[in-house]
Amino acid sequence: MKFGGTSVEDAKAIDRTAAIVRGRRERGLEAVVVVSAMAKVTDQLLAAAAAAGRDDRAGALAISARLRHRHIDTTADLLDGERFVQLQETINHEFDALDDLLRGIAAVGELTARTNDLVVSFGERLSSRMVAAAFEQRGLQGAHVDARTCIVTDAHYGKAVPQENAIEAKLTELVLPLIEAGQTPVMGGFIGATKEGITTTLGRGGSDYTAALVGGGMHAGAIEIWTDVNGIMTTDPRICPDALRVKTISFEEAAELAYFGAKVLHPATILPAVQKSIPVWVLNSRNAENEGTKITALAPKCASPFKSIAAKKRLTIIDVVASRMLMSHGYLKAVFDVFDKYKCAIDMVSTSEVSISLTVDSNERLPEICEELGKIADVKYEGRKALVCLVGEDIRGHNGIAGQVFSAVSHVNVRMISQGASEINMSFMIDEEDVEEAVRSLHKRFFVNPDETIFDVAARAPIAVKA
Ligand code: ADP
Ligand code: ASP
Ligand code: MG
Repeated sequence: MKFGGTSVEDAKAIDRTAAIVRGRRERGLEAVVVVSAMAKVTDQLLAAAAAAGRDDRAGALAISARLRHRHIDTTADLLDGERFVQLQETINHEFDALDDLLRGIAAVGELTARTNDLVVSFGERLSSRMVAAAFEQRGLQGAHVDARTCIVTDAHYGKAVPQENAIEAKLTELVLPLIEAGQTPVMGGFIGATKEGITTTLGRGGSDYTAALVGGGMHAGAIEIWTDVNGIMTTDPRICPDALRVKTISFEEAAELAYFGAKVLHPATILPAVQKSIPVWVLNSRNAENEGTKITALAPKCASPFKSIAAKKRLTIIDVVASRMLMSHGYLKAVFDVFDKYKCAIDMVSTSEVSISLTVDSNERLPEICEELGKIADVKYEGRKALVCLVGEDIRGHNGIAGQVFSAVSHVNVRMISQGASEINMSFMIDEEDVEEAVRSLHKRFFVNPDETIFDVAARAPIAVKA
């Protein structure tokens, strides 16, 4: 069971989380609980690290002081007596260490990816201790596990790659005995460590990934992702408040959605679950009675072509025009090798006789990439683009779908179009400022008359939306 930032954002939320876990235990189920940092804490830790890195020592320490208060205040609301005193001491120790670290970064005047991971790891280290103690006080036998002892990764700081065999061995050694003793292990998501013990992180939104790794490694019967919406919706409810819950979706569809920007799941979450055929549920911790979304290997047939619409912003389009290497073999390889060299992932590609257009979402290394591409072609790039992606396994059976999609967004300037090889997604690039409008038009066009067996049409009611 994974609880996201909003599900542990304050004492009330942690109380709800405890009640949900109690419900599972009362049904005779055993749970491992994975928690995110309290809502917004990761962003604030990143801001503190960045401030220290540019020698703003006071700014960094001020952020840390605010975080210290928030964690201690929440602990005071959650725990009584000796339990509170003990945890307060632990939290103070952790924040003293964080402050030392921030001073160190400011003194050196340099923030490395490795140190950044160490700073940001405090969020999940603290929240997991608080939730474990809260469970203990509420008779749930919470047992804190430092995720860094189990989630073994490589040393790719900021986006470390988990080592699944080593993780499974550690979970068997350290977590299984707790379950067998009737306890509820609680660990932070998102964080891990190399086999030498250096702290790493799995990338933003990575707690979902931790949940899937733990579920996979422990051969769980189900993986539950508890968040602040009723499940996977037909689009981001922050863009369309009338988005509907999707009752069932396939692994493949969910993976495409996550990859193309639906923040509700981390893109890598599905993988360990697929490998072991473990069903994944997305559920609402503010509305635990709701059925949520079930993600399974096979999706039932759906009368609508699409299940959901995702959008991903902050992309850049790169146009590579091959006047000099026109028609020479090895050209595509030469272009992709440059992206490979800088470990830059490409989202979408379209080609013509002389040009290739590519989109990327990380542009830190863009100047270097373009300079190198410039040796073999003419290169132009344009930022502030967005990708809109419609996903559904039933696209296959519908003729004339592209026509319907593009007539719904005929007022928007569309730059690149692609229908994925998997035939379950259709995507196109537009300017960032057109995203909301395009998604709303598409949602209106494709979800006016939704298939009641797949979408929760009965609940066209208010949806929990983040404040
Ligand atoms: P958590 O902190 O629980 O991991 P996130 O903020 O990472 O939560 O993800 C949940 C949010 O994802 C929702 O509040 C919603 O705004 C957003 N979201 C984007 N696309 C979708 C979608 N298709 N279905 C549901 N939620 C979505
Ligand atoms: N706390 C981390 C983040 O905000 C991981 C997560 O919440 O999934 O990215
Ligand atoms: Mg998330």
